[in-house]
Amino acid sequence: MVDTTALMTVVADKFVEPARDGHELLNMTVVAFLIEHEPSGQKLMFDLGVRKDFWNLPPILQQRLGRVIPSLRVDKDTTEILQESKISLKSISSVVWSHYHWDHTGTVSLFPPSTSLVVGPGVKSSPNLLPGYPQNPNSPLNASDIEGRTLVEIDFTSGLNIGEFRAHDYFGDGSFYLLDTPGHCLGHMCALARTTPEPNSTFVFLGGDICHFPGAFRPTPSILLPDHIPTGVLDESPYFPSPCPCSLFTEPHPLSPTEENKATPFYNISTDPSAAYADPPRAQASVNALIQFDASPSVCIFLSHDTTLLQYLPTLNNEPESDLNDWKKNGWKEKCHWGWLNEMPRGGKPGRKPIVDGFWRDGQLWDTAKSELAERGKGATGTGL
Ligand SMILES: [Zn+2]
Repeated sequence: MVDTTALMTVVADKFVEPARDGHELLNMTVVAFLIEHEPSGQKLMFDLGVRKDFWNLPPILQQRLGRVIPSLRVDKDTTEILQESKISLKSISSVVWSHYHWDHTGTVSLFPPSTSLVVGPGVKSSPNLLPGYPQNPNSPLNASDIEGRTLVEIDFTSGLNIGEFRAHDYFGDGSFYLLDTPGHCLGHMCALARTTPEPNSTFVFLGGDICHFPGAFRPTPSILLPDHIPTGVLDESPYFPSPCPCSLFTEPHPLSPTEENKATPFYNISTDPSAAYADPPRAQASVNALIQFDASPSVCIFLSHDTTLLQYLPTLNNEPESDLNDWKKNGWKEKCHWGWLNEMPRGGKPGRKPIVDGFWRDGQLWDTAKSELAERGKGATGTGL
C-alpha cells in the first residue's frame, strides 16, 4: 500500500446520506497499491492518487477543485514515492485506474511509454474523456497521460463472476481480478488480489471509490456493531470512557430500535442531484454487493479514502520491505474495521477535526488557490466528472 500523501476534505452530503450534525465534512486520505506478480515478474500500480502539481490538471478540474473542494494538500507525487523506495518507473508494466477521477489518476505521463494504462469499460470510447485535454478542451484527463502508451480497456463479458460482480482474471491464473463495480462513474473498477494461496486463500479487495466511507457499508448483520467499541480503536478523548459504549454512536442513528442500528450501515450512498455518484442506485447496489465480501473472514477491504488504513498498516513509504499479504495472520482486518467511528459525531460532540485546512502548495498554505484555480479553469464547461 502506498500512502500517496494526499489529504483532503469533501462535503459529506455529496457522498453519504442522511446528513448528520457534526459530520459535515469527510476526511480523506488517498492510498494506491503496488501489485507484484511473481510468476511473470510484472509489477503494476492500482491507482496513483493525486498528482502533486494539481494546478496542472486540465482547466475543467481546476475550476471544479476551487469551487467544491474545501481543502487539499499533496506533498509527494506517487512516482517520487516509488523511486524513493528503489522501484524504478520502468519496472511498472501497467497502471490500472480504478476510475478516471483526478484523485486516482496521478501523473501517468512521468512513466515511460512501456507502461500501459488500464481502464474500465466505456472509457476508451467516451468522447467526453478522450483524446484528453487540450485536444478536448473540457476533458478531465490530460492527453499527455494517455498518448504514446498502450491503452487497455477491460472487457467483462467472459461470463466470470465473483460475488455479484462481473470479473476479469488479469493474469489468467486467479491471482488478481478486476471487478466491474458501476455507479460512481463510467468504468469504475475494483480489484481482488489473492494474498495467500489455496487451500487457505485470502484476498484484499481494493475498493477504489466503490464508496468513500466505511460507514456506508458497516455495520451489518454479519458483523454487528459491538456493544462496546474495543479499546484502542477510538482516539483518546477526555469526554468518553474506554471501552466506549456503542450507544453513544447509535443515538443519532436515523433507524430504531437499537438492535437494528447495530446491524445497519450508518449511511446510504448520497442521492443528492449533485452527488459524487453518477448513478446512485447502481452505486448503492455495488455497495450492497460489497457487504458480502466484508462478511467473509477471507477478504479484507481497502477503500481508497479510508483514513484508518494509514493509521495502522505498513506502507511502501515507511516500511518498503512490508506488504499486506499476511493481513489475516496479523489481525489487520479487525484492527481497521471500526476506525471510521472516529469520524462520527458521538454523544452530541462532532467527529474528528478536518485532516487538512485550506489548499497547500509546495508545503505551504496557498491562500490564493481558490481564485487562481478559478482563473485557470475559466472557459471550461461541464462538470469534468
Ligand atoms: Zn476518489
